[in-house]
Amino acid sequence: MSDEKGKTREVGIYMCTFCGYIFDEEKEGKSIKELDKCPPCQKPAYVFKLLTKKTVPVKEPE
Ligand SMILES: [Zn+2]
Repeated sequence: MSDEKGKTREVGIYMCTFCGYIFDEEKEGKSIKELDKCPPCQKPAYVFKLLTKKTVPVKEPE
């Protein structure tokens, strides 16, 4: 018996401490780890701090 329904994953919302740019992993469709620099200010990704985490449903491709 396996229950594939209700699969979730945890994503984070991060903010650039330099310019205030918000990076939402769910919206961007990628992890903060894949971001090498902040798009607006070009600072390296380590200036981002975690604002909050959220759990979102995983959408399986058909
Ligand atoms: Zn920035």
